[in-house]
Amino acid sequence: MMQQANQQSNVAIIGAGPAGSYTARCLAMLDIKTDVYEEHHEIGSPSHCAGHISINSLKKLGLYPLQKGIVENTFNAANFYSPSGTKFAIHLKKPVTCVLNRTKFDQHLAEQAKQAGATFHTGTAVKSLRIENNYVKGVNLQDDTIVSSKITVDAEGISSRLLRQAKLEGLYRKGLVYAVETEIDQADNVDPHTVEVYMGSSAPGFYAWLIPRLDGTAKLGLATKHGNPQNYLKNLMTQHPIVKKQVKGAKIVKIDYHAIPLAGPIGQAYSNGFLAVGDVASQVKPTTGGGVIFGLTCGEIVADVVKLALDLGDVSTNVLNVYQKRCDAALSFDVSFMLRLRRFLNSLSDERWDSVLRFCNRFGIGKALSDVEEIDYQGRMMMRVATKPAMLAALGYFGLLYLFANP
Ligand SMILES: Cc1cc2nc3c(=O)[nH]c(=O)nc-3n(C[C@H](O)[C@H](O)[C@H](O)COP(=O)(O)OP(=O)(O)OC[C@H]3O[C@@H](n4cnc5c(N)ncnc54)[C@H](O)[C@@H]3O)c2cc1C
Repeated sequence: MMQQANQQSNVAIIGAGPAGSYTARCLAMLDIKTDVYEEHHEIGSPSHCAGHISINSLKKLGLYPLQKGIVENTFNAANFYSPSGTKFAIHLKKPVTCVLNRTKFDQHLAEQAKQAGATFHTGTAVKSLRIENNYVKGVNLQDDTIVSSKITVDAEGISSRLLRQAKLEGLYRKGLVYAVETEIDQADNVDPHTVEVYMGSSAPGFYAWLIPRLDGTAKLGLATKHGNPQNYLKNLMTQHPIVKKQVKGAKIVKIDYHAIPLAGPIGQAYSNGFLAVGDVASQVKPTTGGGVIFGLTCGEIVADVVKLALDLGDVSTNVLNVYQKRCDAALSFDVSFMLRLRRFLNSLSDERWDSVLRFCNRFGIGKALSDVEEIDYQGRMMMRVATKPAMLAALGYFGLLYLFANP
């Protein structure tokens, strides 16, 4: 195949998911010429994500309130159920989370990046990285166009095919859970501002969720460590004592499958001329699988570090390692807490889930958590609430369970 005309850019970004587009916006706002390459023709589609996001974190990133149509609902409560139907409820003093239309949200981020000066190339897949003398020097597109860039940002999501070409350790496969995400046309007996969460063997190694929309439809999904998520979904809808009533008569109108990386960020997300951001770098909460806020947070750091490297005229690892240090400073305390919490949650049998949820009811854990606003940085959130008497009791109880589960 003939080589076509070269393209030049300061920064080439692979992928226009939230991490790629938000990074592009931050770079363009620093007047850095940025080109984003997205394999799909329509940004945000297909969407595989529930889009359940913390309002507080969106605000901190300057992204909330969002324009009409992107936010589908807001929530100030959550119900947690064991497989036998034992329930624990948390009611918060104000809405703390929202559910987004992910396609519209991704398009909104891309639009903001374009307005700031970034160029988007949709329907343009990146085939490989251009590597010379141990430096990533740009990308080769599927149509054999050569793009040269001073820095390449990999935001390709979980496929992580190009990451391995940069000789970085790929995603830790054992840390993946396999998800099915659906939209259903009706959900009964659910409060419209409460998220429903189903624990234990309903979705081993993770959990299942039902997120109602204001129009009576809902997002229903789960992820599992082993087995076929579709079979677990069928069981959830037909066997679970609570869910089968909530989804009675409902039809699935949309279904998608995708994996979620839960092992915490990869050890090194940079090499000469190269940075990785978002799911490809496993910048995802190990407890909930939420990756949007962490990906955007690290996207801001990418922009700062790219500016530093370009100003210094040094795109080697000597400068780009600042990215790793700053991401670690932003995330590692909370991630290590969440990794332990995830291990603990995975260790609980269904019977233990009954007793844990009953304990939470008896000791007023819901009330102790009622003024929580922070749900992304869960280690720091736990430090803030840990002094309340109910939480001290809970920490003692869960600490013992943890020790027995992880001798
Ligand atoms: C079922 C499910 C539910 C979820 N629910 C939530 C939730 O409620 N809240 C939350 O915060 N997170 C959630 N997540 C996680 C969230 O979806 C991801 O963390 C987030 O989408 C990661 O963004 P990203 O930009 O890194 O990657 P992606 O969103 O995967 O975007 C990567 C982009 O790169 C493009 N691309 C890939 N390879 C190439 C290539 N070679 N050339 C050009 N383009 C390429 C892809 O087409 C895609 O558009 C969920 C995930 C799943 C699977």
